[in-house]
Amino acid sequence: MCPKYEADGKVLEIDHDKCDGDSACADACPSNVFELVNGKSTAPNIAECTECCACVSGCPKEAIKHSSC
Ligand code: SF4
Repeated sequence: MCPKYEADGKVLEIDHDKCDGDSACADACPSNVFELVNGKSTAPNIAECTECCACVSGCPKEAIKHSSC
């Protein structure tokens, strides 16, 4: 399962087969885009994303794809 989040031309996908819910993305994100739900990362606040790419580089499982990173 690979939920996709979109806003203002930004597209972020999280591979839930890889995500281990350790919150690395949430800890790295300066904009509070992420929320942990049932042990998996979600990105309900994608509209707040500033395209800094910290989540992509910070995920130890390489579970995040971002259209700008
Ligand atoms: S690119 Fe930056 S601002 Fe956007 S979701 Fe990832 S860490 Fe947050």
